[in-house]
Amino acid sequence: MLMSKLFIQTLREFPNDAEAISHKLLVRAGYIKKLMTGSYTYLPLMQRVLSKISNIIREEMNASGAQEILMPFVQPSSIWEKSGRWAVYGKELARLKDRSGNDMCLAPTHEEVVTSLTEGILSSYKQLPVNLYQIQTKFRDEIRPRFGLLRGREFTMKDAYSFHTSQEDLNREYDVMAETYTRIFNRCGLETRAVQSDSGAIGGKVSHEFMVLTDTAVGENDVFYCDKCGYSANSNHATSVLNELETDGGFSAQEKVLTPDVKTIDDLANFFNIKTNNILKSVFCIVDDKPVLAMIRGDKEIEETKLLNAVQGLEMRYGTDDEIYEYFNCEAGFLSFLNVSDKIRVLFDDSAKTMKNFVIGANEKDYHIVGYNFDKMPETVDISLVKAGEKCPVCSAPLNVTRGIEVGNIFQLGTKYSQPMNACYTDEEGNLKPFIMGCYGIGVTRVAAAAIEKFHDDFGIIWPREIAPYQIIVVPVNVADELQVKTANEIYETLKNNGVEVVLDDRDERAGVKFKDADLIGFPLRVTVGKTINEGLVEFKVRKTGEMIKIKPDEVLNYFKEYTK
Ligand code: ATP
Ligand code: MG
Repeated sequence: MLMSKLFIQTLREFPNDAEAISHKLLVRAGYIKKLMTGSYTYLPLMQRVLSKISNIIREEMNASGAQEILMPFVQPSSIWEKSGRWAVYGKELARLKDRSGNDMCLAPTHEEVVTSLTEGILSSYKQLPVNLYQIQTKFRDEIRPRFGLLRGREFTMKDAYSFHTSQEDLNREYDVMAETYTRIFNRCGLETRAVQSDSGAIGGKVSHEFMVLTDTAVGENDVFYCDKCGYSANSNHATSVLNELETDGGFSAQEKVLTPDVKTIDDLANFFNIKTNNILKSVFCIVDDKPVLAMIRGDKEIEETKLLNAVQGLEMRYGTDDEIYEYFNCEAGFLSFLNVSDKIRVLFDDSAKTMKNFVIGANEKDYHIVGYNFDKMPETVDISLVKAGEKCPVCSAPLNVTRGIEVGNIFQLGTKYSQPMNACYTDEEGNLKPFIMGCYGIGVTRVAAAAIEKFHDDFGIIWPREIAPYQIIVVPVNVADELQVKTANEIYETLKNNGVEVVLDDRDERAGVKFKDADLIGFPLRVTVGKTINEGLVEFKVRKTGEMIKIKPDEVLNYFKEYTK
């Protein structure tokens, strides 16, 4: 490929709507161009990266016995009604009508299509198990599309669905997929950790997410892990052993106390000279337009996904001051569950269980109640966020936390789709049974972005070799110098004829510009043909390490082979 012909434009500046480094670099280095929020054209360099990732996925999925198919992107509402998700999927599902007024949607995922696909094809236990996968476009009208390819609205996913006659066989396939995923990500140059997770809208019981652990802030997930026993879980699923010490506030009697303008948990703790864990905090939220009051120990925070699961909600936000006034007739800072309107759903976090003689709001401006004890312990649920340092639920060692980017996940669906959609096979005794299913996703576009989050420097992208768009760039420093141009061309031709993915930077640009672009785009290797050619030498440089050696032009191919062995 000639650089002068490559359909890209590298930019001097980062785009100003980008926060994540992968987003900034992908735009600046000419990999993607935005069409609208969360939707990008993949330019030639990007397309090469994506097809490499897809090919790795294909090879490994095929090797594990899965078969590739391609299902339609626009789907009829009828199958979503059958599965029960048409009513509950929420605003992420982009809905439309055809000319006859039939409801349809853009595929956010394909459980419904694949489950209905079995009809008339998979009918006997003899045909099972089967694992079908595709690499397809998905559309989700994400609430917060941001970070470029990390969270787009239109993106590419590999999704696979397996069908079994027993839970044991699903377990077996689940393990096979977990191993396949580890191999796929390793081949993409990414180390991942499989963590326990919440199953979300897809449903099912057992699920794991494959996380690329990063220290950049854009990982949208916190992963809690234990160095001692290996426990690891997404924050939406992680639990800890609740610290039961010092949950007695020490007040000898229950009384209402004037606490003028003492509104925050810290102010209250100071005011009464107690610990924050001796206060039962009231957190007022609106879930799908309905009021919810979450009661949680003062030192803990709400975990939004856990709260949503507890009330079977789809979207939550915190209540505004006006809404608080409307529902409590009181200011924020003094709320509690005492005497609340029965319009408000009240939830107690598990952390409330061990509290004694504690402080709560009085539901009256400037007043709190101290020395409160539950007459009868209300039912509690786990809706709290684990904190680093809390004890591992398996072995009690302190938990660590890190940021993670979810590049894939695996779910045991069981009969969640086959049952309502009546997707059945005939077993050995001739009985109709619903399929036991698993599903397995990988964000193809997100894998590319995650690799950049992980591997870049101040100059640009440092692609893992297996997914780099090209392996090597040949740069003649001065295109007016005949010998430089001739040598560069010869090296380029030799590499090309030997099947190497090579770019020749034939542009009439300053050397500095060419070097900058080469670093920005992230070619793993660079051959520079400059003045040293007069001594018969060119420079061979490794992007990742900065290592550089001088070699003869006819040695380039061998060095390339040696390096990429
Ligand atoms: P997330 O929690 O990040 O929204 P999800 O649980 O919705 O992910 P799935 O529906 O299981 O994800 O999709 C499978 C894979 O597709 C995810 O592991 C992720 O890598 C990728 N993916 C999901 N949503 C997006 C998106 N908006 N943009 C890019 N990739 C995505
Ligand atoms: Mg999602």
